[in-house]
Amino acid sequence: MNIAVLGATGSIGTQTLDVISECLPDARVCALTGFSNIDKLAEAVIKFKPPLVCTADEQAADCLKQRLNGNFSGTYKIVTGDEGLTYCAAESGADVVVNALVGRAGLAPTLAAINAGINVALANKETLVTAGELVMKKAREKNVRITPIDSEHSAILQCLQGNGDNPPEKLIITASGGPFRKWTKERIAKATAEDALRHPTWNMGAKITIDSATLMNKGLEVIEAMRLYDMPLEKIEVVIHPQSVIHSMVEFADGAVMAQLGVPDMRVPISYALTQPRRAANNFTKLNLLEYNSLTFGKPDTERFPCLRLALYAAETGGTLPAVMNYLNELAVGLFLQNKISFYSISDIISRAFDAYIVTRADSPEDITEAEAWAEGFFKNYRIEV
Ligand code: NAD
Ligand code: MG
Repeated sequence: MNIAVLGATGSIGTQTLDVISECLPDARVCALTGFSNIDKLAEAVIKFKPPLVCTADEQAADCLKQRLNGNFSGTYKIVTGDEGLTYCAAESGADVVVNALVGRAGLAPTLAAINAGINVALANKETLVTAGELVMKKAREKNVRITPIDSEHSAILQCLQGNGDNPPEKLIITASGGPFRKWTKERIAKATAEDALRHPTWNMGAKITIDSATLMNKGLEVIEAMRLYDMPLEKIEVVIHPQSVIHSMVEFADGAVMAQLGVPDMRVPISYALTQPRRAANNFTKLNLLEYNSLTFGKPDTERFPCLRLALYAAETGGTLPAVMNYLNELAVGLFLQNKISFYSISDIISRAFDAYIVTRADSPEDITEAEAWAEGFFKNYRIEV
């Protein structure tokens, strides 16, 4: 199996490389991409010897060449920028593209892989939030499989696969509740990026960790589930489950509920996305239920976590609204990470944009580009106002 890993220097990207070396001895890495962390990219190139590598720009490419000089004797081609990313997705000879990019940068490479008829193991949920209907339609046309890496969606896939043709009646998506699950609204209002980056159960990239603290991540995941499994919003429920042991559930017509359990370790859904419906053995820590006194469940509080309410509104409205929300969230989270805006400014910006934006249909990539351009303009003006 030839695997291209986009975003190979990030949290999911490095865990994907771990899975490849631990569990998939016959796999070959045919392309690796990294953005800013050249040291990490060089390390991965030396270990996996891909014939194709992508960096952010020419300067980063020169830097990579210097790092590899004398440490690596293989032949490789370097491509750069957004074009380089789509080239790696479509032209690297991959049987599967792992999209571990963060944010809206992930959409174009996903579409490039689909257009080239290549299966995608998708961590980049923003792809499906921004343009999910378009992406899934194109994948069906091209007979391409989009397999989720997100643990909740992997859990749902596994529950569905164990149940033949029975259609799901309801999807139950679990959420850890994030680091502020027990905080009062007043305390959350003063939270810093450092506070929000302390996730209780998962160790992830910065953007998704903030999304988990605001619960926007769960909202994005609801939209991701609607697109992947063609389910209406009213058949999807979000349940807070702080132990992160049940990764999600599916209810069937007779009331039976199937769940997938395991320790919180993204290498398991990554491995499954690459081998499904088969499973590869590994030596990762296994679940010991006796280590848990109890597994608990609660209702999410959209008063303290308004991003979830906004995302559910965008999910219900559809069209270009999820793309606008996704981009504004990405921009706002970027500022919050630099402690330039407060925690609740993230939801304030999105909420004000919802008041101002006129939603249109999301029928083409151009519709999405236009919506994102509107979001970018709104964001710039909003910052001037603050
Ligand atoms: P990360 O920030 O750790 O890594 C992101 C990767 O994308 C890095 O390799 C970075 O170099 C690259 N990148 C960033 N911006 C880029 C750009 N503009 N152009 C090209 N490359 C760029 O992120 P992550 O936590 O690994 O998350 C990746 C995706 O997986 C996200 O969509 C996230 O929501 C999803 N996801 C992550 C986890 C997790 O445990 N980390 C779990 C579920 C889903
Ligand atoms: Mg998830």
